[in-house]
Amino acid sequence: MNVRSYAFEEYVERVRSFHGFAAPGVLIGGFMVDLAYQHLPEEGLLDAICETAKCLPDAIQLLTPCTIGNGWLRVIDIGRFALSFYDKSNGEGFRVSLDPSLLEAWPEIKNWFFKLKPKKEQDYGLLMEQIRKSGTSICRIERVRIAPSFLGKKQRGKIALCPKCKEAYPPSDGPICLGCAGEIPYHVSEIADGLAPERSKGQTSIDIGDQHALLERERRPTG
Ligand code: ZN
Repeated sequence: MNVRSYAFEEYVERVRSFHGFAAPGVLIGGFMVDLAYQHLPEEGLLDAICETAKCLPDAIQLLTPCTIGNGWLRVIDIGRFALSFYDKSNGEGFRVSLDPSLLEAWPEIKNWFFKLKPKKEQDYGLLMEQIRKSGTSICRIERVRIAPSFLGKKQRGKIALCPKCKEAYPPSDGPICLGCAGEIPYHVSEIADGLAPERSKGQTSIDIGDQHALLERERRPTG
């Protein structure tokens, strides 16, 4: 069974290099994208909505022109394993989700999806095999019409200098930038002379709490 233009094994390799690990969620996500595209018209510009931030956005970014960076993919993290593609001119499209009622025939996928077994007890080989064999058959597809308020580009308007940090920010956020208003997970500290000889005086370092833990988290596969 193919995933868009790729043979399944080719897609697994692409997922490895992009996602860092052949995560079950990105593999199943590939079939979900494939199923949506089987129903979507060939003409027209498509946008995407993803209902989880885990795994699924990477399947969309790997297989379609929709990315977070170009704004054609929006993640609404409501924790549902579902995606929609729609024509941005009229909001007409399709939503694909993983259907729990169809997982009875695929127990290892069910174990993974509902986290019924600790990760170390999961049979990864069997899980991969069931994902490959089940393909799009575990997915549900439905027509959707995206709300008009959601269509169209989000304009952020003017750019100004934040009086506190002196960095550029959209003044529609308020009198100071959201970073200075406290919405950042780090604090910036001055490096004292002599502590960092390879750096020039006055340079600042960014202290992101426990950096080691953060790196570990980045390296650890998700899904
Ligand atoms: Zn600021």
